[in-house]
Amino acid sequence: MTDTVADQGAPFEADPAAIANALESASIPTLLTSLVHLTGDLSILDGDIRPAAAVLGEVQGNLTDQQKAEVRRRALAALLDYRDRGYRLPPSPDSAAVHRMMSFIVGEEVPAEYGPMMMEELALDGHDRRRTPLRVDPSDLADRFHVLVIGAGMSGLLAAVRLQQAGVPYTVVEKDADLGGTWNENTYPGCRVDIANHFYCYSFEPNHDWSEYFSQQPELKAYFERCADKYQVRDRIRFSTEVVAAVYDEDRAEWAVELRDASGRTETLRANVVISGVGQLNRPKIPDIPGLDSFAGTYFHSARWRHDHDLDGCRVAVIGTGASALQLVPEVAKQAGQLYVLQRSPAWMFPNPAYHRRVSDGAKWLLKHVPYYARWYRFLLFWPGSDGLLPSLIVDPSWPHQDRSINELNELTRVYFTDYMKEQLEDRPDLLDKVVPTYPPFGKRMLQDNGSWLSTLKRDNVELITDEISRIEPDAVVLRNGRRVEVDTIVFATGFHANKFLWPMQITGRAGKRLDVVWGDDPRAYLGITVPDFPNLFCLYGPATNLAHAGSIIFHSECQVRYVMGCIAHLLEGRHRSMECRRDVFEDFNQRLDEALARTVWAHPGVDSWYKNEAGRVTTTSPWRLVDYWRWTKHPSFDDFVVE
Ligand code: NAP
Repeated sequence: MTDTVADQGAPFEADPAAIANALESASIPTLLTSLVHLTGDLSILDGDIRPAAAVLGEVQGNLTDQQKAEVRRRALAALLDYRDRGYRLPPSPDSAAVHRMMSFIVGEEVPAEYGPMMMEELALDGHDRRRTPLRVDPSDLADRFHVLVIGAGMSGLLAAVRLQQAGVPYTVVEKDADLGGTWNENTYPGCRVDIANHFYCYSFEPNHDWSEYFSQQPELKAYFERCADKYQVRDRIRFSTEVVAAVYDEDRAEWAVELRDASGRTETLRANVVISGVGQLNRPKIPDIPGLDSFAGTYFHSARWRHDHDLDGCRVAVIGTGASALQLVPEVAKQAGQLYVLQRSPAWMFPNPAYHRRVSDGAKWLLKHVPYYARWYRFLLFWPGSDGLLPSLIVDPSWPHQDRSINELNELTRVYFTDYMKEQLEDRPDLLDKVVPTYPPFGKRMLQDNGSWLSTLKRDNVELITDEISRIEPDAVVLRNGRRVEVDTIVFATGFHANKFLWPMQITGRAGKRLDVVWGDDPRAYLGITVPDFPNLFCLYGPATNLAHAGSIIFHSECQVRYVMGCIAHLLEGRHRSMECRRDVFEDFNQRLDEALARTVWAHPGVDSWYKNEAGRVTTTSPWRLVDYWRWTKHPSFDDFVVE
């Protein structure tokens, strides 16, 4: 099984004209760094052609056309030379040079503390450094150690890959009939990733064939399927099997996990360690609107799309205007006879012209063949979406306009996003007041937009309704103002039970403590991973680990899985029975967490979102810098645990 990141550039047959053509699609800052590898010429980093500070989604470095042409010309010559030399590269730049290259490509000084994290993410030496080597003989483990992973989505699969690589016996239990988690369950029209795809993939398993910069659900699902097959984890997944309960057996230091298959048959599986990879957004929430049961038409949730239900010519209501609605409404509008979009609060959108853009064949060629191009391209996407944004999401207590923004930069962003909407609605001023949020930008999850949302709302067959819903009748959604909106179909794009972590499983730890009772709707874990009284239970994407300011959730999962693997290695290598997070460590962490979260825009009183629980505390989302979380999770500190 591979332990390398196969990303250094494959040999090529292409002729000069074809290469020149491909170079037309190049990200020039990325190409410049590849040129350093191709030529060994570090003076490129001191040259006149220098990318400006990278901003999210901008991959051209703000260079003139003439500069870009010059870089392409040099790259063509260097690539042909590289080919003629038999694809041999000059000696690799040393770590100091790589650090200079990092700062060069993003047009700003990358602080030294980021060097190791980014070096790992770049994997220029081809090594997958997030893999955990185990210093025990795997053949020794077969009868004495077993890990149960709950869920075969992005994070559960990742855990499975790492366990497989380490030779630790494991079983994955998946409630659905297929793998992919979110990317298996959400099949609504228009469903696509909204984090740049060349970065939203495992660091050790790049994909140079994404057809779009933000690809659609079938392609995401296919990616995770390919990973499951390549890393030989599919056979270890028990599909259509749900974990109903798990009870910690203190005498044996084991979890007794109750499973139920599709036929209702139950079975108990014993495991030394349980890893939850169930995610935060997998239990659809349909609001309790009076009269819903009486609806004579068809209704369903966005994550349970009824593909058997033809929307052609239908009168459709979509309730909700979050991330799911923003993607599905433009597609439904093309089919429906009449579409009513029922909005409770509008969403802030990030203008992103590349959102629906296809990746050209030329760009794919570069990713595959130009040495280190794909790695640096990933870095270029990663860095602007890294910790740089976080300070702007912290409330400035002296800022006088707290009702609409939290600090000066947030206010500038608010104006910028508002102008973006105004520009699109010059011909429809009536819509403007409805679509511009009154809460500060970034308070809820930011959505990506290329103009398709507002152009859809302007369609003749679409109406945006902002009046409150009162009830549902057999043929209509009735509004508080008395209006009856007659529809045949209702789509609930109303989100998920995000605060009910690990729900509806019943997890019982030491002394009969139930996790659902301990947590209620105020879940807490140390590092989002581990909880006192629940030894040998680890959460991926647990409380306060959602990322709303930076990175991708895959990056976070890679941090968490490495941490959990470090714990498993410790258990095995030390022949320990169990490890349980110390209460004082947990409490200290949560105090710091609360203090940090209270200062963020997500805690703003004018914002209501799935980040918060009923009491208004932010429970799902992380306030930490990526670099801190990466450092804290790199090696578990065993002093944080009571180890038996
Ligand atoms: P969501 O963000 O929670 O949005 C739910 C929407 O339903 C909101 O507009 C909410 O209004 C509305 N709503 C809820 N209850 C309502 C009620 N009783 N009456 C009227 N409106 C109601 O859910 P989501 O759109 O499914 O997205 C959830 C998360 O999933 C996202 O934030 C994102 O993290 C993830 N996601 C990602 C992608 C992607 O990457 N491409 C796509 C989809 C989802 P209020 O705002 O007023 O509460």
